[in-house]
Amino acid sequence: MSEIHKLVIIGSGPAGWTAAIYAARAQLQPKVYIGIPKQDPGPVLPGGQLMLTTEVENYPGFPNGITGPEMMAHFQQQAERFGTQVICDDIVRCEFSKDPAKVPHVLHTASGEAVRAHAVIIATGAVANWIGLHNEMRLARSGGGVSACAVCDGALPAFRNQPLAVVGGGDTAMEEATYLTKFASVVYIIHRRDSLRASKIMQQRFLSRPNAKVLWNKVVVDVLGEKHIEGVTLEDTVTKERSKLDVRGLFIAIGHTPATKFLQGTGLEFNEKGYVDLKRRDSTTNLPGVFAAGDVADEHYRQAITAAGMGCQAALDAERWLGAQGVH
Ligand code: NAP
Repeated sequence: MSEIHKLVIIGSGPAGWTAAIYAARAQLQPKVYIGIPKQDPGPVLPGGQLMLTTEVENYPGFPNGITGPEMMAHFQQQAERFGTQVICDDIVRCEFSKDPAKVPHVLHTASGEAVRAHAVIIATGAVANWIGLHNEMRLARSGGGVSACAVCDGALPAFRNQPLAVVGGGDTAMEEATYLTKFASVVYIIHRRDSLRASKIMQQRFLSRPNAKVLWNKVVVDVLGEKHIEGVTLEDTVTKERSKLDVRGLFIAIGHTPATKFLQGTGLEFNEKGYVDLKRRDSTTNLPGVFAAGDVADEHYRQAITAAGMGCQAALDAERWLGAQGVH
């Protein structure tokens, strides 16, 4: 039989690493499963969404900003300093126990290991959404100029001095579009309504660029091109009129879905949008010894700082719960 861990943390974004820092300092010897990098069809990386972000300017303590990957490297170093064990594997299935202090939870890894733990913190975040068009997915998978991450792919030579488009009207769309204005001849925001959801500062940053354009009330209904994107077919959401827009790159920035597939059928409860349902104003779920933190359980704020705060709460909740069960 394998060792029983006090605490396993699944996920390595701000929530997972903050939980690890607190848990390691509380001598819970946490084990963090950081995940295996994959293309699904866009990049899913250990470190989460911040690995796909350029400058983080709103995380207190970094007056000059910091890049997302740099910030995640700092978080990991800090967690490791206090003895966190870091495992590069995915948890693909969970068997949660009804009485985990006596019969531990069992977590199955992609590499075929069964990991036993009294307490688990789920901090798997969320992954980028796609429109769901056949040609969008085909060209995303084949590297044909369709991507859900401008920061990862935007600087490729194929996009230099070309017309590019970003779908979405939120902060992510503004951030990606602003980044692309550095390379592109023109960057179109394609948005389904007549006003943007993004914060004013992010809107202004994009709109102040000379090669920025917004196409209002438009949705992409097809992506054109065999090996590489040559354009998109747009539909006006008001008039239903269709038109063609020539672009050589299409970046999808239409929000995220919580990464909970591996938790289906475990008895864990989710809300109507698929986020882990937290029972109280803490990280407690409906299952004993199972806690959740960060974007996987937060459809509202979804910020690095709030995810980190939730990670802290989850570690404190897990520590208290373990103590109350007599697991020290
Ligand atoms: P979001 O705020 O949910 O925005 C998603 C956008 O995509 C919305 O404009 C939405 O349109 C549009 N959309 C959704 N489904 C669509 C579909 N099927 N077809 C076309 N358009 C669709 O997501 P987000 O921009 O990823 O931001 C998520 C969170 O992260 C937010 O809290 C944001 O503030 C934060 N964030 C912050 C920063 C920063 O401060 N540096 C950067 C990035 C993200 P509607 O507006 O019509 O709903």
